Amino acid sequence: MHNPNDPSLTSWVESAQGSDFSIQNLPFGIYQMEGITPRAASAIGDQVVDLYMASALFSADWKYDRTVFLSPSLNAFISLGREAWKATRRELSLLLMGGKEAKPELASRILIPMHRVEMLLPVEIGDYTDFYSSIDHATNVGIMFRGKENALMPNWKWLPVGYHGRASSVVVSGTNLHRPKGQTSAADDQPPVFGPSRLVDFELEMGYIVGQGNALGDAVSTEEAEGHIFGLCLFNDWSARDIQRWEYVPLGPFLAKNFGSTISPWIVTMEALEPFRVPGYVQDPAPLEYLQTTGDRNFDLNLEVFIQPEGKEETRVCQSNFKYMYWSIAQQVAHHTVNGCNLRVGDLLASGTLSGPEPSSFGSMLELSWRGTQPVPLNDGSERKFIQDGDTVIIRGHGIRNGVRVGFGEVRSKILPAK
Ligand code: CA
Repeated sequence: MHNPNDPSLTSWVESAQGSDFSIQNLPFGIYQMEGITPRAASAIGDQVVDLYMASALFSADWKYDRTVFLSPSLNAFISLGREAWKATRRELSLLLMGGKEAKPELASRILIPMHRVEMLLPVEIGDYTDFYSSIDHATNVGIMFRGKENALMPNWKWLPVGYHGRASSVVVSGTNLHRPKGQTSAADDQPPVFGPSRLVDFELEMGYIVGQGNALGDAVSTEEAEGHIFGLCLFNDWSARDIQRWEYVPLGPFLAKNFGSTISPWIVTMEALEPFRVPGYVQDPAPLEYLQTTGDRNFDLNLEVFIQPEGKEETRVCQSNFKYMYWSIAQQVAHHTVNGCNLRVGDLLASGTLSGPEPSSFGSMLELSWRGTQPVPLNDGSERKFIQDGDTVIIRGHGIRNGVRVGFGEVRSKILPAK
C-alpha cells in the first residue's frame, strides 16, 4: 500500500520540496476565486489543488461522492470518516508524486497558484473549547497574579482546565479585528471605566478540528481520543487582558476572549503529523485512570510568533513548540467527554497558550513583557508591552523529520482601532 508519509517521496510540483506544503503534508482547506464558488482544496508547494477537479483523476479505489468537495466547508468531507481522509490523501499523493519532470497538462487541470485564491474558514465550527494545558504558561500567569507559592491552582495537575469559548467569532487568517471595548477596573473603590482595551494580546495556540463525534452520554477514552480528531491548525486566541482581569471572577473568560479568534486556513491531518510524535512531560502526580495514556502523545512542531507594525518589517518575538503541552490532545478529549458531553464534527478545540520553559518561548505578550514590565524590542526600534493598533500578529508553524518538512503556513490578523 502506498505510504504518503514516505520521506523519499518527491513531487513534480517543484515548489513542494522544502515547503510547509511538501508532498508528505497534503492538508485540507476551502478556497474561492473569481469564477469559482467556495470549495475544498489541498496544498502543494505554492499551489492550491482543486479537490473536485483532482478527484476526477483518482483511482477506482476511491469510492466516495466527489460532490463533497463542492461544499463551502470541509464538514461534508470530514463526515465521510477517517478511511475517506486517508484514501483522499493517498490518491493526492499518487497524483502529485514523481520526479523532476513538470506535468503542465495535469497542473493546468488541478493546480492554481496560491496567490490567486482567497482562503476561507475551512470548517463550519459548531462549538469551540479552549484549554489551558501548557505548564509554563499556567505557571507564569500564576506567578504574576498569585505569587510563586500558589502559581498553579490545586486542580491544575489533576485535570486539563478548559472553558467553552464562542464559535461565531472564530475567523480565518487575514481577517482583521477591531480593538474591543469593554469594562476595566479603575483605581481602588472607583467604579469601572468603559472604553477600548489597552492590553490587547495574542495567545499562541494550536487548534484541533473534531472529525468524529460521540453520542451524548458516551465518554471517549484516551486510547480512542486521537481517532476523533481530523487535524490541526494554527490558532491565535486574541485576549484583552484588562477586560479579562475585571470580568473573569468567578466564571472565567467572557468578553475578553470572544471578540475574535483567528485560525489558519489549512488543516494538517493527524496522519501527516504521525512522524512528529514525541513523549510528553512526566506527569507527577500520576493522573486519574481515565486520563492515563500510553505511547508518545505529544508532537514536535516548531511555532513562531511575529509582530509587524503598520508599514514596517516583522519581528519574531517568540519561538515555542507544540511539544510543551502538559496535557495531551488525547487527555483533553478524554476529559472533555468523560461526563458524556458530545463533541461534533467541525468542533474546534484549542490547546491553550503554548509557552515553553525559556523566556523567548513565552506564547503571549503578557508573559513576554512580564505584565508590561519588560517591553519587547522590535526591529524598527519601537517596543511593545501589548499589541498596538495597526500591528499584525503572525503565527507560523512546522515540523521537520527525516529531512521532510510538514507545516501549517501561517495565521495572520491585524488589530484595527476600536470602532
Ligand atoms: Ca487561550
